[in-house]
Amino acid sequence: MKPAPFDYHRAGSTEEAVRLLAQTGGKVLAGGQSLVPLMSMRLAAPAALVDINGVPGLERIEVDAEAVTVGAITRHRALELDAAAFAANPLLRKALRQVAHPTIRNRGTTVGSLAHADPAAEMPAVLAVLDGHVDALSEANGRRTIRAADLFLGPMECGLTDGELAVSATFPNLPPRSGSSWLEIARRHGDYAVVGAAAVVTLDDERAVRSARLALVSVGGTPTVVDVSEAYAGTSYDAVDWAEALEQVDASIDPETDIHASAEYRRRLARVLAGRALAQALGEALGEALEVTSP
Ligand code: FAD
Repeated sequence: MKPAPFDYHRAGSTEEAVRLLAQTGGKVLAGGQSLVPLMSMRLAAPAALVDINGVPGLERIEVDAEAVTVGAITRHRALELDAAAFAANPLLRKALRQVAHPTIRNRGTTVGSLAHADPAAEMPAVLAVLDGHVDALSEANGRRTIRAADLFLGPMECGLTDGELAVSATFPNLPPRSGSSWLEIARRHGDYAVVGAAAVVTLDDERAVRSARLALVSVGGTPTVVDVSEAYAGTSYDAVDWAEALEQVDASIDPETDIHASAEYRRRLARVLAGRALAQALGEALGEALEVTSP
């Protein structure tokens, strides 16, 4: 099928992009890897597209002591391969390697994936587990920051309002003595996850747990964050038993049956992947802790 007719505008600046969005009521065209197939299948029929691929500066990757910030047209692949971003937060690369295939990652954008808010997508869960945020610009609201907790509202429903451009996304760095993991099961490599789990564990100076967080995908309409920091705070690394965390996972998820898997299978997978991801993240955090404290 072919898309319904639409107007095409190529913005030269973020200001021009938000003006065009307000004037036309159109949609942002970033990598087009989700929007164009939806238009071709006539599941989306925007009257206009505002192409941001020519806006200077939006392809940036900035890494500082606090966070990794990516612009709206930073490709998944560029972030995956960025050495400074990997050093600041290895979870980014671990998750990005599971996003579709390299060809799609060469064009698809990380910010576009957040805006698209697919409940099976990796990067919304990564933003959520890290408690990151998106900076947005529009004629109606000006500039504002939207925390991950307020960004994912439902399947394909994100907290950006009509006419709003997500200018960048900020992923906080992992603190010292932290470990992370991304695990997923997909029918074929590159497919969306039947279930996926991100885990981040941080230890204190005594190698006891300071915080432990999970985010799961494909077990609800949005990434499901399970923060078990309180339950495990102060537990020595060698006394950790994740059974309580898995009970919290079970209580937090709401998986559905579809053509890919039954709700029961997803529930089982969520527990298995969450347990493994937490164990991997703890192991990595311990390695970091030994490095930090060794003479
Ligand atoms: P686009 O397709 O250009 O836009 C998607 C939506 O977001 C549109 O509604 C658009 O208006 C809006 N949007 C985009 N950027 C902005 C912005 N800056 N501000 C406001 N709104 C914006 N993704 C995964 O996470 N995991 C997978 O396993 C996976 N597998 C895939 C397999 C295939 C075969 C394909 C084609 C895609 C797959 N994807 C997967 C999707 C891919 O990651 C997309 O790149 C991503 O979802 C959207 O990014 P995009 O830049 O292509 O956005």
